[in-house]
Amino acid sequence: MIELSAVAAWRRYADEQRHAGRRVGLVPTMGALHAGHASLFRAARDHGDVVVATVFVNPRQFALDGDHRAYPRTPRRDLELAQSSGVDCVVTPTIEEMWPSYPEVTATTVAVHGVGDPLEGVDRPGHFDGVASVVAKLFNVTGPCRAYFGEKDFQQIAVVRQMVRDLDFDVEVVGCPIVRDEDGLALSSRNVMLDLDGRRRARALSRALRTVASGPLTASEVRAALRRVLGEGGVDVAYAEVVDPATFVPCTEHDEGERRALVAAVVDGVRLIDNASVTLRRAG
Ligand code: AMP
Repeated sequence: MIELSAVAAWRRYADEQRHAGRRVGLVPTMGALHAGHASLFRAARDHGDVVVATVFVNPRQFALDGDHRAYPRTPRRDLELAQSSGVDCVVTPTIEEMWPSYPEVTATTVAVHGVGDPLEGVDRPGHFDGVASVVAKLFNVTGPCRAYFGEKDFQQIAVVRQMVRDLDFDVEVVGCPIVRDEDGLALSSRNVMLDLDGRRRARALSRALRTVASGPLTASEVRAALRRVLGEGGVDVAYAEVVDPATFVPCTEHDEGERRALVAAVVDGVRLIDNASVTLRRAG
């Protein structure tokens, strides 16, 4: 596995791989790597791609500088996990290279409306602008590639797909299933910030989603059941929604068939998200 940090070297590496007839598989991460990230590395490797993993804690997608600084960082372990999961090249760019004007924002921002507006877009204003802007840069430096994203951040995938379509990036976006702990909790770099009791309560997110997965319910029944289970679990609900997975428009009582349920909750100051497929039935 080779390690790069300079943007020019990373661009050159990806160009060389393509010239040699290989397909580049890009896996963007913010580090503090876990088995969820490893599943993306393996998916890229299993597709036969040259696996390029980026580790960059992007300050522009955090509302507060303090949140950015508090984000967990495990650089040594990240390299070990990347290597053992089949990563060919790990790139750790510096903030200075990615955002030379930091902490001033750049003059250019990529904003994805529609799918980026509800849910995370409401709760974390500017978050998806930071995500789309940095992912646009990752795509431009890497060049034509497949890019792997986890369904854990389901709305993020929709935002990236929309951006790729609207701005004609030569990138195939691949969504990968959520990796969970044995107790159902979706793996997240933020889970290390929870103590034992917080972890126990955090299970309410996946429990709520399992509750609505079992039978066809109406959209309002889904929302009510999610809120009930989250409330009983002792977490602070940010949202509990069911939407069209392509447009992120909230479902109505007329909708039926497969849709996406998404939840966000705060546990001891740690904001967690999760989602799952649900089957809706029409009311009446
Ligand atoms: P992050 O480092 O949290 O920005 O995540 C980097 C990528 O890993 C994103 O595409 C995430 O959706 C994905 N990811 C994070 N956690 C999981 C998980 N538990 N299962 C699958 N993918 C994940």
